[in-house]
Amino acid sequence: MKITSAEVFVGGPGKNYVTLKIMTDQGIYGIGDATLNTRETLPAHYLTEYLIPCLIGMDPRKSEDIWQFFYRGAYFRRGPIAMAAIGAIDMALWDIKGKIAGLPLYQLFGGKSREGAMVYAHASGNDLEDLMDSIAYYREEGYQAVRVQCGIPGMPKGGGYAVADKGDSKNYITNFLGNGPKIEIWNSDKYMRYMPDALGEIRDRFGFDMCLLHDVHHRLLPREAAQFAKEVEQHRLYWLEDPTPAEDQSALEIIRQHSTTPIAIGEVFNSIYDCNKLIQSNLIDFIRVSATYGGGITSLKRIVDLAALHNVQTGFHGAPSHSPISMAAQGHLNAWAPNFGVQEYLVLGTPECDALFPSEHKMEKGFFYVSDAPGLGVDFDENEATRYEFERGYHPVTRLEDGTVWNY
Ligand SMILES: [Mg+2]
Repeated sequence: MKITSAEVFVGGPGKNYVTLKIMTDQGIYGIGDATLNTRETLPAHYLTEYLIPCLIGMDPRKSEDIWQFFYRGAYFRRGPIAMAAIGAIDMALWDIKGKIAGLPLYQLFGGKSREGAMVYAHASGNDLEDLMDSIAYYREEGYQAVRVQCGIPGMPKGGGYAVADKGDSKNYITNFLGNGPKIEIWNSDKYMRYMPDALGEIRDRFGFDMCLLHDVHHRLLPREAAQFAKEVEQHRLYWLEDPTPAEDQSALEIIRQHSTTPIAIGEVFNSIYDCNKLIQSNLIDFIRVSATYGGGITSLKRIVDLAALHNVQTGFHGAPSHSPISMAAQGHLNAWAPNFGVQEYLVLGTPECDALFPSEHKMEKGFFYVSDAPGLGVDFDENEATRYEFERGYHPVTRLEDGTVWNY
């Protein structure tokens, strides 16, 4: 069996999905997602200029060898661009493998450990009351886990930390489809004085039978994050996400020394080497790496196994930039993983998105159910894809009130 061709498509409804399609000499094809949010054309070029020419003629069943060939075979390894490109190839090869076997991918990993995988929604509001309405909406929809973000009094309303409107992901899109980065203003002191009590009010209103998640979006200094984690301990968060910038892993030690609030990190990580110390030292409780810029299923499964050894649970990234292909890849891993925790899931199911990526995967009452279709169980409609083209966009850039650039 040989790979005969591969093609990359960039575009989608409101998002620049980067979709790879690999064809074989036996008519079976596989698809993968290389969408690197706000830098989408870079993994697309990495694929078309460097990886696809090597891929032609390879045996698609040798997914491990092909992964190693592109990872070890490059002198300059890792990084989000290369790993998103390798990740797309790897997803497509697993898709082909599942189709050859006639089995859904979760069966190739070891079968299901659960029927439905719990997902969390994003509730947000311009202020706390607005946020309460958003949480109530998701609770009525059946979600057991909700991430809560709200505007902070005295700070301008912002997109990265707390989206301006409640309820869905559309605000991220308006933020990144402009002509240049939107500037957001941040003040850690105002945030730290307000948010712990706000989380307490949410517990008072909705009780403790809800998995409550909160994302700090890398905004705090290590000492501030430790203080924050200690103060919110009484509110029993399911997790506190990205309390500090992910590059400084020793910051997690300071947080751990002062609190037992569960910590989730890793959505910007690209390899097992980014997680290794954090997992083995039990400095985190949830690992957030994604199949897309984490190098695909082959590397993500290895991270899940390492995490399981140390009782760290999964909580894969699922921002709206992830296409239904990577969400399917993660869906199959979630169905299997013995140490599954929760899956981030933002509403992908617009009619346009469903037409571009047809699948039988189901979201019901806050749980994701993978279909039994062979492979990834999601397809890609090339005719639909011709409706879309690339539009440049940026994440917002954060500044402190005195103008200093801060962490987004
Ligand atoms: Mg996050």
